[in-house]
Formats: sequence, C-alpha cells, structure tokens
Amino acid sequence: MVSRATTRLILGIIQRNYNKVPAWADESVDDWFQALIKYTDIEAEKAVRQICRTRKTLPNVAAVIEAIQGARKSAGAVVGSEPTGCAACGLTGWREVVHHLHSRGKLQVTEYLAACDCAAGMRLNVGPTVEPWEDLVKRCRDDPFTVAVYHGTHTEPHVPRDQRLHPDALARIQASPRPASAGAWQHLTGAG
Ligand SMILES: [Zn+2]
Repeated sequence: MVSRATTRLILGIIQRNYNKVPAWADESVDDWFQALIKYTDIEAEKAVRQICRTRKTLPNVAAVIEAIQGARKSAGAVVGSEPTGCAACGLTGWREVVHHLHSRGKLQVTEYLAACDCAAGMRLNVGPTVEPWEDLVKRCRDDPFTVAVYHGTHTEPHVPRDQRLHPDALARIQASPRPASAGAWQHLTGAG
C-alpha cells in the first residue's frame, strides 16, 4: 500500500519537475493517495521518476497508474514470473475473509479465502469458485443474518484469532491450561 508520505513525496517530484506551485502538491495529496492506495511506495515512486524523465506535460494520477501497470506487465513478461502479491494477502493472492452469521438461532463462523485485488490475486482463477474478496465481503454484509465480516488488510493480512474463531472455540482455548512458555506472563498478570 502506498503511504501518504510517499504520495506527498512523488507529488513534490512532479511539482518541481513541471514547475507547479508547492500548494498544488499539498492539495492533490488526498486524491492521489486514494487513487494509488492499491500500489506500493516503490512502484509509485519508480513510475513517477520514469514519467518525469520522459514526459513533457504534467501527468495526472491516471498516467502514473498506467506507468505502474506497464512496469508490472513488462516485469512479468521479461522474467516470466508470477506476479508477487501485496501485504494484504501476505504475497499469496489469497485474501482472508471471515463471516459471522446467525443461522437457525446459532452463530456460525466461516473462514474463506478470496482473490485479493493485487496482481497475484488477479492471476487466480477468479470465477464460480474463487471470488474477488470485495465482492465476497459485500455479499456477506448484505446478508440480513450477518453478525460481522472480517478480512485481511494491508496492515494485518491475517484475521486475528478472536475474530477468526467461533466464540465457543475461543472460550475453550482460553480455558485450557497455558503452555509452559507463557508461564512468565501468567506469573506477572497473576500477581495483579
Ligand atoms: Zn494481495
């Protein structure tokens, strides 16, 4: 995921290269950050530096995205490698989605793997069996019996255990004796 800091940095590069006023870069940060959020800092910066070297007129964010996608394509074509995933799917292309649903008076927790929206995710065979993660999340949220939907994010690709497990299963784990390695921690908290 691109950071705001990098978004501001690349806008600064463009602003200086195309003789815009610094205020232009400040005003553009929000829009560009949203537009570039799917890409990485490195990709965005590389694309902008390349654009500044080759392009005569001020690029818009679409031109930057085009350059990033062009770079991804040629990287894949040159080495013939699989595209790498992003932080949100732990580089695998598979995004974790967990659905908590009320069914016949009982809570049901189902864990899914869906296609991430990054290059690796798009390479997965999206179709009847592999769903884009955003579609899956939307479908779960639209279900009137849904209690909660959790999914991997760029900062936390794995849905935490207390959201991934059924509350009953979680309670059983928490009730069972802790492993020896947790002894020191238990001792500390036990004293309080
Ligand atoms: Zn991904």
